Amino acid sequence: MFYSLRSRVIVLSSLVVLAVVALAAALTAVSLQLQSSARWVEHTQTVLEMAAKPIDRLRRAESDLRGMIISHDPSLGAAIDADLRATRSDMDRLVQLTADNPPQHARALRLRAAVLDRIAFLSEGTRLARVQRIATVAPVRVRTSWQLMRMVDQRRDELVEAEQALLLDRNASTHASAYWLRVLAMAGGLIVGFAALTIAFVITRGVGRPTAVLSEAMEELGSGDASGRIALRTMGSREFRRLARGYNVMAERLAEALEKQHRSEEDLSTINQELLSRSHLLEARSEVAEYLGDMMRRLQASRSDAEFAKVIERFVPLALPDTTGAVYTHNNSRNQLVRAAAWGSASDLPDTIAPDACWAMRLGQSHAQSPFAPDVDCAHAEGREAYHCEPLLAGGELIGILHIAGEVDGADEYRLQALSETLSSALMNYRLQRNLREQTIRDAMTGLFNRRYLEEALAIEIARAARARTPLTVVMCDVDHFKRFNDEFGHEAGDHVLRMVAEQMRAHFRDGDILCRYGGEEFTIIAPGVTPEILATRIEKLRLAISKLSLRHGGQSLGPTSMSFGVAAHAGETQGEGSGLLQAADEALYRAKRAGRNRMVIAGQLAA
Ligand code: GH3
Ligand code: MG
Ligand code: MG
Repeated sequence: MFYSLRSRVIVLSSLVVLAVVALAAALTAVSLQLQSSARWVEHTQTVLEMAAKPIDRLRRAESDLRGMIISHDPSLGAAIDADLRATRSDMDRLVQLTADNPPQHARALRLRAAVLDRIAFLSEGTRLARVQRIATVAPVRVRTSWQLMRMVDQRRDELVEAEQALLLDRNASTHASAYWLRVLAMAGGLIVGFAALTIAFVITRGVGRPTAVLSEAMEELGSGDASGRIALRTMGSREFRRLARGYNVMAERLAEALEKQHRSEEDLSTINQELLSRSHLLEARSEVAEYLGDMMRRLQASRSDAEFAKVIERFVPLALPDTTGAVYTHNNSRNQLVRAAAWGSASDLPDTIAPDACWAMRLGQSHAQSPFAPDVDCAHAEGREAYHCEPLLAGGELIGILHIAGEVDGADEYRLQALSETLSSALMNYRLQRNLREQTIRDAMTGLFNRRYLEEALAIEIARAARARTPLTVVMCDVDHFKRFNDEFGHEAGDHVLRMVAEQMRAHFRDGDILCRYGGEEFTIIAPGVTPEILATRIEKLRLAISKLSLRHGGQSLGPTSMSFGVAAHAGETQGEGSGLLQAADEALYRAKRAGRNRMVIAGQLAA
């Protein structure tokens, strides 16, 4: 049970006040008693004095009377009268003084009566002495005087004895009062002192300890530690318990607030870190996107496979740093994946891959091999510890793979993804463009260049030959009696013959030679860097090969085929040479036809 400090102090103070009041009352009572005792002692002394004084006066008056009688000096009579008057009044006073004490009063009255008798006697004696007749009565008077004096002494002694007994009593009472006064003063002082000490102790204890505990807790709180709580039982009083409870609630709320603040700071720092890492990621991504954008634009502007490869080899290491890899694309017949570009130390990567040899190709999804997540090996990368194959898809069609040797960091997978998407669409674009270009310059049936291309190419080659002073030869060729195939076996058979002839032409000329279908069953060959004489051998081989063809179509033998050739060489001029050169070759062809067909005629030479 906890009482309030205030009530404790009030109770203790009230007790002290009560004690002090009681003590003061007791002291006042005792001191009053002492005062009254002292007054009584004084009174007794006055009574004793009043009892003694008249006797002395009476004796003096008697003595004076005797002297008067002997000396006959009447002057003494006045002194005697004065003494007797004073004695009477003293006696009256004595009677008055003893009025409070009836036995003493009775004694005083008796003493006064005896003294008055004696006074009367002495007054008579004085009168007689004045008339000088004292001697006549002297003997009787002496005895009477003596009796009267005895009576007075006796009665005075009675009174004095009783008064002295009273004095003893009153003295004892005074001593007792003084004693109690001392005792009370001592005890009261002690009690009040002790009570004051108790109050001081209660206050010090009631305030000091909880204050120390509270200030210690406050200091802790001040230093930032809000975990401390004050044990209410150490507080002692209700006021401090309330204070401590208030402090605990405050500390609790503060701790909660701190905790919340701490949590939100942590959250904030996590968010900050996330934001930072996201911004790094975004930065990295935008960097990658920039590289890939640059790559895309350059790939779209590429005009050849070599350029295409160069762009990839330059930009992929920027978008995907520190990697080795290659891009494989389908060849024309789609039976092989051919290495289109490679970067890093790609020397041990294969040049071609069978489409079936890659799981990414088969599944149409990423395929990765790593020691941490082992998977089945792709045949093209058998035994490799880690690699990554990303299928290149365009419009739902698999067009190749992106192969990365080694492991791809999880954080870099988005780069791989973006790269593969970019490569896919670039490849697709490049292919479409190439096909479109091809379509505009090639003859669809034979696959040879068309006449438009021939004219452009011829102009370029003539300019180049003129600049480089290198030879340039043009061949015009025409299938002999081609009309017959159409007429006898139909147009389809005619087309078949044209395709076969074109195939033979491709087989006998090298890459640098430009093979064109001039129109109908007529073909043109532009052969840069060679003279007609040197080219003649190859034309001869072609002519022989065509003449040995035994073509069949629709289950029928088409019969013999042959071709006539007219060859013309560039003479060194550039102006208007295209048509002139072709014309010269055509003329040579015409001559070959006229000379019996299935032969070659070089312009400026006699037909063979
Ligand atoms: P020559 O030996 O004198 O050249 O006789 P030829 O029959 O080959 O000559 P001609 O110019 O008289 O005949 C050419 C024929 O070729 C006429 C045309 O119907 C046919 N021809 C032209 N273009 C094509 C084609 O693309 N396909 C087919 N099947 N026939 C064609
Ligand atoms: Mg013709
Ligand atoms: Mg012909």
